[in-house]
Amino acid sequence: MRYNALMPADISPLRYDLHSHSLASDGTLTPSDLVRRAHGAGVQVLALTDHDETSGVAEAQMAAKGVGLQLVAGVEISVTWGSMTIHIVGLHIEPDAPLLLDGLTRLRKFRDWRAEEIGRRLAKHGIPGAYEGALRYASGRIVSRTHFAQFLAAEGHAESTRDVFKRFLRRNKPGHVPGEWATLEEAVGWIHAAGGMAVMAHPARYDLTATRRRKLLGEFVECGGEGIEVVSGSHSRDDCISTAQYARQFDLLASAGSDYHGPENPWMELGRLPPFPDNATRPIWESDRWLEISARSALPLSVAGVA
Ligand code: AMP
Ligand code: MN
Ligand code: MN
Ligand code: MN
Repeated sequence: MRYNALMPADISPLRYDLHSHSLASDGTLTPSDLVRRAHGAGVQVLALTDHDETSGVAEAQMAAKGVGLQLVAGVEISVTWGSMTIHIVGLHIEPDAPLLLDGLTRLRKFRDWRAEEIGRRLAKHGIPGAYEGALRYASGRIVSRTHFAQFLAAEGHAESTRDVFKRFLRRNKPGHVPGEWATLEEAVGWIHAAGGMAVMAHPARYDLTATRRRKLLGEFVECGGEGIEVVSGSHSRDDCISTAQYARQFDLLASAGSDYHGPENPWMELGRLPPFPDNATRPIWESDRWLEISARSALPLSVAGVA
């Protein structure tokens, strides 16, 4: 059950949405269309956080200027932690920062190899052509498991993309390839080197025991991570409340993001994020660091250069 679906109509939604995807990764809208849709839905501050990719940010920023929305340059970095894949969102990053660019290039190389390997494994399992099919859905951008899911669902190998993940792409399934993404330390380091803030994405989605969850959050804080998604499109109401407790325990700022991927997923819409639960820590956008970065980026370039 989704928190979004539970939000009573008389509660006004958050105007911040700090997690979204465009065609630059596995979303289905162009960065401009995403920004315009967010603006139309009442979002005032939107972060574009494509998987391991920042190429959509420039277009999103242009579109944001056009409609008067504040666009936060972001990224969602894939991390391997033990045998798990964890996602770390970077907010207010400089998309051209060399360390971040190099890191993301490495991850995209692994992504390309992994896509071929998924294709080989599915072919052995009796489904030929999945790599080529996924490439068509990716249309020249990064290849995600989402694109495999779209192809396999369209070809009738499963009822829905969700079903494809369950049957083919998860651990112990025929198309699963273990990750070799960034380490937690690298991801946070790249984000900081690009001047940004690091946020643990959708923590309730990771299948972890309480002990392991505390270990993950402890390591994240040790690396210098600043925030955690308390409100997420993939959190139930109880998930939001329990994540807020973890945020308090680990002194992490509260973030909120829909994880919007496009209108095909109507259960996760823009502009409908519920407010933080009462036990939440300070919103990340009220932190000194956030305000400092926002003030700097609002200055004319020449002044910002001197400061
Ligand atoms: P990748 O980074 O290529 O491994 O793909 C991960 C992406 O797949 C996530 O960001 C989601 O957009 C999507 N995804 C993961 N699990 C599921 C699922 N069970 N159903 C639908 N989409 C999923
Ligand atoms: Mn995705
Ligand atoms: Mn994610
Ligand atoms: Mn995401």
